[in-house]
Amino acid sequence: MTVAAPVPAPDHTADTPPVISMRDVSKYFDDFQALKSVSFDVQKGERVVVCGPSGSGKSTLIRCINRLEAHEAGEIMVEGTTLDDTRASLDQIRGAVGMVFQQFNLFPHLTVLQNLTLGPRRVLGLSEEEARKRAMTYLERVQIPDQAEKFPRQLSGGQQQRVAIARSLCMEPRIMLFDEPTSALDPEMIAEVLEVMTELADSGMTMIVVTHEMGFARRVADRMVFMDKGEIVETGTPEAFFTAPKSQRCATFLQQIL
Ligand code: ADP
Ligand code: MG
Repeated sequence: MTVAAPVPAPDHTADTPPVISMRDVSKYFDDFQALKSVSFDVQKGERVVVCGPSGSGKSTLIRCINRLEAHEAGEIMVEGTTLDDTRASLDQIRGAVGMVFQQFNLFPHLTVLQNLTLGPRRVLGLSEEEARKRAMTYLERVQIPDQAEKFPRQLSGGQQQRVAIARSLCMEPRIMLFDEPTSALDPEMIAEVLEVMTELADSGMTMIVVTHEMGFARRVADRMVFMDKGEIVETGTPEAFFTAPKSQRCATFLQQIL
């Protein structure tokens, strides 16, 4: 893996429109309100780490950003396109946003290479050769080019999650969402996945990462977001967030996980 100097944090004072903008977004599951009028902007190149207790709405927040969940109130814009059920909105999401899940979600009956080439061939219309070349580039980037012909079950959890990251990168998204990508891994495999994510962050990718890996957060986050009970309770730089949380809820949470 190439070790380049990290791309500096984007200038939040710059007068550029955010790549993700949420305004008063609410999401309900029947009568239960999972997101309560959440407002939240992400600038191009920004790396945001989201944390908070289980059930606080972290997954719902990022699933609304790529429309795996539809919000009921408020507005979400991705690169200026409002998310709704129109073709334009779906195309925007498909083109701009990649996502990595806790449970990898690889196709078990396909090899690693087939997992990686499927989207580029079917969705982007790449030829088999082009898709294969692209897949190998990203497998090298996540340091497992030698696993290309294996099936997911033949890989360790850490390797599977790196395949999932490479698969997402094969679609060349401009924004990457991660939902607790290391939570399903055995402890000894967490570092190899975080290393790949750190490299991606250093390359300047716009990222929202839900994680409780606070070492990773301190290293890569430009901004921390703390959620509780469907609300964003607190945001701040990692420095401020970890040393002087503003709310009691956040302080209590940090005491529990650090
Ligand atoms: P987190 O990721 O912070 O643990 P989630 O966003 O998954 O939290 O969930 C927030 C709340 O919404 C939880 O109370 C959860 O039970 C509820 N919830 C999430 N998804 C669904 C669903 N599909 N149907 C009903 N309730 C849901
Ligand atoms: Mg979750």
